[in-house]
Amino acid sequence: MYVKLIAHTPSPDFVVAAAARTCYSAQPIDTVMEKLDEDSAAGYVEMLSEFGHESPIEHASFTFVVEGVSRSLLAQITRHRIASFSVRSQRYVSEKKFGYVTPPQIADCPEALALYNEIMERERDAYNQITALLLEKRLAALPEESREDKAVLAAQRRTAAEDARYVLPNGCETQFVMTMNARSLKNFFRLRCCNRAQWEIRELARRMLLEVRRVSPALFREAGPACVSGPCPEGKMSCGRAAEMRKLYGEMEDASWEN
Ligand SMILES: Cc1cc2nc3c(=O)[nH]c(=O)nc-3n(C[C@H](O)[C@H](O)[C@H](O)COP(=O)(O)OP(=O)(O)OC[C@H]3O[C@@H](n4cnc5c(N)ncnc54)[C@H](O)[C@@H]3O)c2cc1C
Repeated sequence: MYVKLIAHTPSPDFVVAAAARTCYSAQPIDTVMEKLDEDSAAGYVEMLSEFGHESPIEHASFTFVVEGVSRSLLAQITRHRIASFSVRSQRYVSEKKFGYVTPPQIADCPEALALYNEIMERERDAYNQITALLLEKRLAALPEESREDKAVLAAQRRTAAEDARYVLPNGCETQFVMTMNARSLKNFFRLRCCNRAQWEIRELARRMLLEVRRVSPALFREAGPACVSGPCPEGKMSCGRAAEMRKLYGEMEDASWEN
């Protein structure tokens, strides 16, 4: 898995603090902004968090590149509606050599791993064979002179791949660019850093949190699973490790920690 924060609102704390001050000050916005410095901006950001006044943090946006994750993860992350996604297409990009994610549980079980790898190979073969068969059929239906045309050939290959991809597995690797504002990100971290979230999206969420904390520690100081900033809301599904999680997210500094 590769995760990188590639862009963000410049001075996110400052922008959020300016928005927040605008709500509570009778002064013109220019004056409000002139009075802000780095420390006071961070102070306002933390105050907002205490108040639960979340809309000003929507003014700070963060854009990530994510690579080497599964289509299974993609299905989960795209359920987060307050976000923008650009995903590598399986129509325009051939999957003839697709990579795949191996879940750690499978990697740790030699028999399961052998079966998993074998099935992936078979899916790759099936994809390539179906693409070739469909392409052959589509080309045979065209006038002979069109078959030599590069653009026609590319379009026919695309249409064949479009249906051949139905054999591709959930584990098939993908990549995407995603943008979320800080409010949506905090909701995402609350849900997906939680031990109840599935391992792959949890790992992604943690890596994303590390990235944004580097550029805006004040905005994301209390970000993480819900138990980091309050009681665990999971009821009977709780992992029972709230104290451990509070410590972990409080000390979180690099992506090397696991759990
Ligand atoms: C542990 C776990 C298990 C899950 N299991 C399943 C499952 O089995 N099946 C399944 O389908 N999904 C499942 N999900 C996905 C989950 O139901 C959400 O779709 C997903 O987490 C996105 O969360 P969200 O709606 O808060 O985020 P966003 O879509 O980004 O929305 C952010 C917030 O905006 C508000 N909002 C957005 N849209 C609306 C709206 N239309 N109406 C009212 N308010 C809105 C809500 O307050 C929401 O929390 C699971 C998620 C988790 C974390």
